[in-house]
Amino acid sequence: MSSRFEYYTTVRSETREGVTYEIKRDTVTGHLSCSCPAWRYQHLPTNERYCKHTRALMQISDEDRRQVTQRPVTERELREMVARALVEAIG
Ligand SMILES: [Zn+2]
Repeated sequence: MSSRFEYYTTVRSETREGVTYEIKRDTVTGHLSCSCPAWRYQHLPTNERYCKHTRALMQISDEDRRQVTQRPVTERELREMVARALVEAIG
């Protein structure tokens, strides 16, 4: 059975031990979804929803993105990747 949504990565909560969020990618639109409460409870169509995890994943470098889609990542790592991408953008 094929699905329009493919597994993208898993994000580990920094503050809540043992809690993970699963990120999926819409293969048609490329939009990311997340299993965290902030994403799930937004009163918007799914293709207009964002959370800190999907926003971070859109901001990191292509190289970091390749890493992240091959293994689980922590919120702390994601934050560091976003900071690195910003530094690189500014030069
Ligand atoms: Zn999320």
